[in-house]
Amino acid sequence: MTTFKSVFKQYNWNEIKSKIYQTTTKDVENSLAKSKKNLDDFLVMISPAAQPYLELMAQKSHELTKKRFGKTIQMYAPLYLSNECQNICTYCGFSLDNKIKRKTLSDSEIKLEVQALKNLGFDHVLLVTGEANYTVNINYFLNAIAQIRKDFSIISIEVQPLSQEEYERLHQAGVYSVLVYQETYHQEVYKKYHTKGKKSNFDFRLDTPDRIGKAGIHKIGLGVLLGLEDWRADSFFNALHLDYLQKTYWQTKYSVSFPRLRPAEGIIEPNFIMDDKDLTQLICAYRLWNENLEISISTRENEKFRNNIIPIGTTSMSAGSKTNPGGYVVDPQSLEQFEISDERSVAEITKIITERGYEPVWKDWDRTFSQTSKVKSLKENSVFN
Ligand code: SF4
Repeated sequence: MTTFKSVFKQYNWNEIKSKIYQTTTKDVENSLAKSKKNLDDFLVMISPAAQPYLELMAQKSHELTKKRFGKTIQMYAPLYLSNECQNICTYCGFSLDNKIKRKTLSDSEIKLEVQALKNLGFDHVLLVTGEANYTVNINYFLNAIAQIRKDFSIISIEVQPLSQEEYERLHQAGVYSVLVYQETYHQEVYKKYHTKGKKSNFDFRLDTPDRIGKAGIHKIGLGVLLGLEDWRADSFFNALHLDYLQKTYWQTKYSVSFPRLRPAEGIIEPNFIMDDKDLTQLICAYRLWNENLEISISTRENEKFRNNIIPIGTTSMSAGSKTNPGGYVVDPQSLEQFEISDERSVAEITKIITERGYEPVWKDWDRTFSQTSKVKSLKENSVFN
């Protein structure tokens, strides 16, 4: 059975890194002039040589995003269900070796948290847990989804890698998208960051999106944890992964996120600093390479960056996020997975989006379009007209 692993093994980290850093001005100008860009052009656009062209890239990224997605930002919120975890990841507050109070939300606590999110206006929820297979497993997820399904149009999930059969069950239960980040594609150092637990199996994680694609989940979200290794090389491999998935599971939609390493209880300092300009360059490169890609910006990022990146390529944003189980109402003081950077309220963030001339969107378009009676009125009011 072919999976991404067989593609990945044809590439060498050091060779890709050298290629990125040896890119010339002429390479950049050639790539930017092309109407349809391939993976080689993506590599060129994330190079240091492309930095002087950032303004031009940002303008093109803005135009392409507006053409494909309109002036809209999809709104979502994470709902942390559990901070139990059997893995040691050196960058995470939930790591097994951190002596924190562990908590998994009960049915009644989930209801309270859901009500808090509904009161804030959310219709898209991202369920998040650590990796504790004995307690927070497929049965726990299915039970939680059954409880909240009627409350949200979109349910996304970011949990431990599962089997294809388990993803099929999530799909049937109503899960719309699954997020799984490789963290780093640098296989040799991966083990250094993931010292204990199932997550230390690089290959199993690498082939997880294949299992999600085969299970027929509507959307797959990828990303790397920016700050662990050279962001340019890691992002090339993330794009390579996306490229393979899009060609293999072509009916699936894709999103990419850009988590930069944030402070958390007991974690390491970033090995590689990625500043706001670098992140803007990366977002533009993704957009210029791939018009259809959804680009998500979380509250890990600071206020100023989030304000400025709205018109440049973003398609979805979280707001008012809590990264601890029970963080909205049940147990607001419990330890968070990482410190969020943008602490503004949902109302403040939607105001900024509106002031930028964009419309915060709370409801999923796909499901609405499947209801024939609503199609006509939506067409009449569409932001794409
Ligand atoms: S990153 Fe995930 S798997 Fe690793 S310690 Fe944190 S919650 Fe557990």
